[in-house]
Amino acid sequence: MDERDGKMSASKVEAVMLCPAYLQANQKFEWLGDRSAADEGTARHLNEEEQTPIEEIGDEDRRRCAIQSRKALQWCRETLEIDGKIEREARLWWDEDWSGQLDYMELDANRAFIADYKMLRGEHEPADKNVQLQAQGALVVKNYPEIEEVFLALIEPLNDPTYTTVSYSRDFLLAKGELFTNASKHALEPNPPAIAGTKQCKWCSAQPYCPSLHTLITETLNKYGKMVGR
Ligand code: SF4
Repeated sequence: MDERDGKMSASKVEAVMLCPAYLQANQKFEWLGDRSAADEGTARHLNEEEQTPIEEIGDEDRRRCAIQSRKALQWCRETLEIDGKIEREARLWWDEDWSGQLDYMELDANRAFIADYKMLRGEHEPADKNVQLQAQGALVVKNYPEIEEVFLALIEPLNDPTYTTVSYSRDFLLAKGELFTNASKHALEPNPPAIAGTKQCKWCSAQPYCPSLHTLITETLNKYGKMVGR
């Protein structure tokens, strides 16, 4: 059974905040698109979870991901002068409402350092605008009462820059966590509204069936048609 038990995960918080129907829609429908990119991302994450020796990674792109990720992580750790207890792929819960699995978490006295890897090419929100990172930070302060400050890094080994960072206080993250929890509860009520948009619909399994997305696409095409017809 899925460890998330049909509940919101940190990686889906932004989509759930933007479209309350997202969670139930993805429980109802299977993803029909290509899964090869996601599978490749999982393989690259596994190399970091298991700290596979570089010389044992045969594929060139996977090797580059591992080298750059480990360099970025080390740069952050040295800058922060942090040397604490490290956990990889720990799943943390906000009560029984929602959860997140953290690629890398290091706890050192009253400070925490979290890193999230984006192992595929493509655009991602930098750390200071990244809702998934805020959700992960919220889970850390919720589960570890001694943590007062959380440092977060978004590591993109195939992009430039290789990593971006941000830090948040305990109070800021607890307030965010409450907001995310309310969104997750609303999303599990009967018939939450579907609100279409590029961010939330991009990876939603309900794409082929969703009237709200259909309307958005039709309106956009009509608008574009009028613009070129002028
Ligand atoms: S396709 Fe878009 S609007 Fe429809 S449920 Fe999914 S995220 Fe919401």
